[in-house]
Amino acid sequence: MHSPADHPLLDSHEAAVLRSVVEFAREVIAPGAAERDSIEKGQVDWETVRAGQQIGLLRMAMPRDLGGLGLSQLAVALVLEELAVADPGMALVFGATGLFQTPILLSGNARLQERYLPAFLGDEPVLACNAVAEQLNGTDLVLPQHAPFAQNMTSAKLSGDTYLLNGTKRYITNAPVATYATVLANLNGSPGSTGLTCFVVDLEQDGVTRGEIHDKVGYRTAPAGELVFTDARVPVENVIGDEYGGWDLNAAVGNVTRVTCASVSTGIARHSLERAMAWCGERKQGGKMLYEHQMSARKLADMAARVSASRALYLDAAVKADNVIPTPAYEPAVAKLVADRAAIDNADAAMALIGAQAFQRGDGMDRVLRDAYGPRIYEGTPEALALVITGELFDVSETR
Ligand SMILES: Cc1cc2nc3c(=O)[nH]c(=O)nc-3n(C[C@H](O)[C@H](O)[C@H](O)COP(=O)(O)OP(=O)(O)OC[C@H]3O[C@@H](n4cnc5c(N)ncnc54)[C@H](O)[C@@H]3O)c2cc1C
Repeated sequence: MHSPADHPLLDSHEAAVLRSVVEFAREVIAPGAAERDSIEKGQVDWETVRAGQQIGLLRMAMPRDLGGLGLSQLAVALVLEELAVADPGMALVFGATGLFQTPILLSGNARLQERYLPAFLGDEPVLACNAVAEQLNGTDLVLPQHAPFAQNMTSAKLSGDTYLLNGTKRYITNAPVATYATVLANLNGSPGSTGLTCFVVDLEQDGVTRGEIHDKVGYRTAPAGELVFTDARVPVENVIGDEYGGWDLNAAVGNVTRVTCASVSTGIARHSLERAMAWCGERKQGGKMLYEHQMSARKLADMAARVSASRALYLDAAVKADNVIPTPAYEPAVAKLVADRAAIDNADAAMALIGAQAFQRGDGMDRVLRDAYGPRIYEGTPEALALVITGELFDVSETR
């Protein structure tokens, strides 16, 4: 049986964190998953977020000398698998805040780290987001070879000692409740999105409004919406990395983030496996437990194999993310491609194995089915990942 705290590459501090997360996911997150599924759009379950803050879930990858838990990517990925088994939307709420912190940490900019990261250490939780996608630009902001074709991109223009941001970001996890965002904008009227630059933006200022709040089919625990910038002022020192360095930073962040996206998908796939095992281990038809029938056994074995394969791939990618600079593109993309499919296939198999009971409202499998389709959209669709993977296989430098 999977016991995340026992992974041999975790140090004793990380193993202790994992033990507390396993308990937190089982005792605190899982029992409220069904209720959170019908939460009003744009709202977040602050009580659970606050409880997560107490055990450090909003500062997982922040170094210990900055007050964070200082977890390796391997440990963060194992944490997110546990959260996703209980409620993937909640994994996204914590994960998206980590996604805001990732470019600040990767940039090594001590001033931005000291200015923005302490907000995540207080008793009251602060949420953040990473704002990339737009109405007209989705994959066009994921694949560098699409950059010339981005349309009407959120823009940044220098005016004195501040940049003025204009445009609308869409589908942004945590946007309705976030205090800070990392925002990718196109600098000085460059064609398409070829001038991509990353900014840290305080969302509680004039010039920033929350636009449409999205009513998602799945991941309903995680609020999402638009961020609208109208001459929003961003100080020059809030550029992360360099002007025009947004594509490189976005790719670096994506390679790290795909590891944890894959672990979230693995958690969704594992939830379906656990549901199917519970059912097939007590339901009898034809005088035998369902798991004793060969056809059901094959389904269950395939589900288990998908979980194990997905986990093996994300752990391998996490080890690379922890030890290779820069994080390679290939392993995280492969891990995410396989795990995203496993989430969908296992939800489908669990529906088949459980039968009519899983088709009832209130049973919970409908939520899993809806959630299972989310991961294949963000941080690279299967088609975008395929281009990244074949780019690596054939060493096509533009896709890196
Ligand atoms: C649950 C969820 C959470 C999200 N959270 C965030 C967030 O926090 N921050 C953020 O910035 N965004 C977020 N997003 C948005 C996400 O990043 C975009 O949805 C994603 O980039 C894809 O863009 P799109 O949906 O506009 O699809 P499009 O890019 O329009 O793609 C539509 C289809 O065309 C295919 N396609 C596109 N280009 C190619 C190509 N070259 N070859 C073959 N096929 C192609 C795609 O694979 C897809 O099947 C989130 C989305 C979801 C569903």
